[in-house]
Amino acid sequence: LGDYHQKPEANEKETTAYESESPSTRVNAAFVALVRNSELAGLRSTVRQIEDRFNRKYKYPYIFLNDVPFTEEFKRGMSFVTDNEIRYGMLNASDWSIPKHLDPAKVFAALEKNKSRYIYGGSLSYRYMCRFQSGLFYDHPLLKDLEYYWRIEPDVNYYCDLDYDPFVFMKENGKRYSFTIAPLEWEKTVETLWPTTLTWIKENPHHLPEESMINWVMGNNGDYNMCHFWSNFEIVDLSLYRSEAYRSYFDHLDKSGGFFYERWGDAPIHSIAASMFLKKSEIHWFEDIGYKHPGNEHCPRPEEMALKCVCDSSRSYTYRSRCQRRFSLVQDVKKEELLQKVAQR
Ligand code: GDP
Ligand code: MN
Repeated sequence: LGDYHQKPEANEKETTAYESESPSTRVNAAFVALVRNSELAGLRSTVRQIEDRFNRKYKYPYIFLNDVPFTEEFKRGMSFVTDNEIRYGMLNASDWSIPKHLDPAKVFAALEKNKSRYIYGGSLSYRYMCRFQSGLFYDHPLLKDLEYYWRIEPDVNYYCDLDYDPFVFMKENGKRYSFTIAPLEWEKTVETLWPTTLTWIKENPHHLPEESMINWVMGNNGDYNMCHFWSNFEIVDLSLYRSEAYRSYFDHLDKSGGFFYERWGDAPIHSIAASMFLKKSEIHWFEDIGYKHPGNEHCPRPEEMALKCVCDSSRSYTYRSRCQRRFSLVQDVKKEELLQKVAQR
């Protein structure tokens, strides 16, 4: 009875585990969210879970970006759910507008046409968001020195205790892209994304690596199979997005207008790029990170993982997902083989 006020041994071990690591094992990384002032409650919930599961011990900073200034109420609210550093930033007006090379009248006609065809079909701000998260965020001044980022969103759930550093894990194991959930994209939102991608491939073979995991997104018939990594969670080596190849690919997509005339999401674009530019060994499924974003959840099934989580693995989408199965089976293909297939189309 007399000892109950003492820290349990397990806790003491926990607090020293990280401190005993050498500083060189730390990665220049941060949690990053684009978020609205109105989403304060949802972001507080997300950040509190990240702190509880992982970051109270690892102390990575948070970077929050917005198209309008963050309110004092927002900043005050966030300051009470973490003691770790928070950096607030605004986007350039040019990062949140219809690019000059597009015809606004055509954009508004497309919104009108698509507003009842799919969710956010008529939303202009959603398109700004997808374009920014696809191609521009990694050049924001607040992210300039970051090597890796972990994207977060308001109102998601983190179910599992994480007792290692995923940034360090990725770096030490040559992982450059990672995900938790891989669903199917809604075809209507990306009608010309694949043909536009194929044009880029034909014009830019010099940007392709000798081998890639492209067959994860490309079916046997050479079409896009709608598989994508759900990018509301992703931990990524930002040199992937900052590469000449990715920039060239994004510019090509941006010029085509598909972010606005259709409603291309950053998820299929990140996913096609990761599959096209990386080998399978560079892409990691964090099976041990139980995660939910409204619509889908991943809850680990293997017992050694499940015991650290508070979720029901029988409700996990991931163990019945076609794209997840495809990821476990897919093999890298040679550039030559890819180019041959593309040439036939
Ligand atoms: P969904 O996950 O596709 O349903 O889209 P969300 O509404 O969750 O948006 C994705 C991310 O972008 C979330 O972190 C949002 O907070 C953020 N976001 C979306 N629209 C806006 C916007 O107009 N302004 C700002 N500042 N953030 C936005
Ligand atoms: Mn979301």
